[in-house]
Amino acid sequence: MNASTEMSDAGSQPDEVHVEFTLALGEGKVHAEAIVPTAKVTLTQLLPVLQGLSSSIIGAVVGQVEEEGHAISCKAGCGACCRQLVPISLFEAEAMAEWIRSLSQEQQVGLQQRFDHALRTFASTGFLEQLDPAKLKDLSLEERKVMGQEYVRQGVACPFLQDESCSIHPNRPLICREYLVTSPAECCSHPTPETVKIVPMPVTLSSALYRAGRMLPGEVNGWIPLVFLMAWMKMGARPGDSFEAGGPKLLAAFLEQCGTA
Ligand code: SF4
Ligand code: SF4
Repeated sequence: MNASTEMSDAGSQPDEVHVEFTLALGEGKVHAEAIVPTAKVTLTQLLPVLQGLSSSIIGAVVGQVEEEGHAISCKAGCGACCRQLVPISLFEAEAMAEWIRSLSQEQQVGLQQRFDHALRTFASTGFLEQLDPAKLKDLSLEERKVMGQEYVRQGVACPFLQDESCSIHPNRPLICREYLVTSPAECCSHPTPETVKIVPMPVTLSSALYRAGRMLPGEVNGWIPLVFLMAWMKMGARPGDSFEAGGPKLLAAFLEQCGTA
């Protein structure tokens, strides 16, 4: 992706800046805007801006796909894909952990039970150890595919899936937003490269966040399986603090990293 940014403060409050982006996507361009705080923020605190940018990119890609005569099959109440391994960046994990801590005790207990159930199911089949981050990092592309297929075969739903819809839809991870298909939804229960037509994204901000995560000391993957979120949050890690700068500067650095991907 080529990314250029223009910044203006037209109509902004003194503590924020109106940033305009022009992203070259294939033969087209995407224009996106965001209100970015001028104060120092961490990469985790910048996530709402990145989510807005991701929506602009995905919207443009969907527009192109539809112009070519295809329809996106994804809709609410359709959750087969939420039984896949969902890699979330450490920064998204931090933000989700913060959100979970803000919930009532009752809600937190309910969520904990859902996560525990998922992990117990994996443990009961012996699959849990395959999700060990140290093992995940050594997998070849082919082994990753096999592992991904086995994850789906286990049939364990994301703990945030309720009535086959995402219960955290506005805050769902970038990887979930970026995953769209044009093949029939029925094919998603047993996904294969032949039957599931994934909409190719020219740039995925989720990957850029994984790369940023891998820059942290001792970090090998830059992401965790979403199903480990509540176990991970007990460590109280704050990975975003390692990437802190004024909002516009941090965003520009992040976009530059996307451009060199
Ligand atoms: S990826 Fe498949 S299962 Fe998921 S929302 Fe789209 S059509 Fe439904
Ligand atoms: S976070 Fe939401 S969209 Fe993503 S896998 Fe879980 S239920 Fe599905």
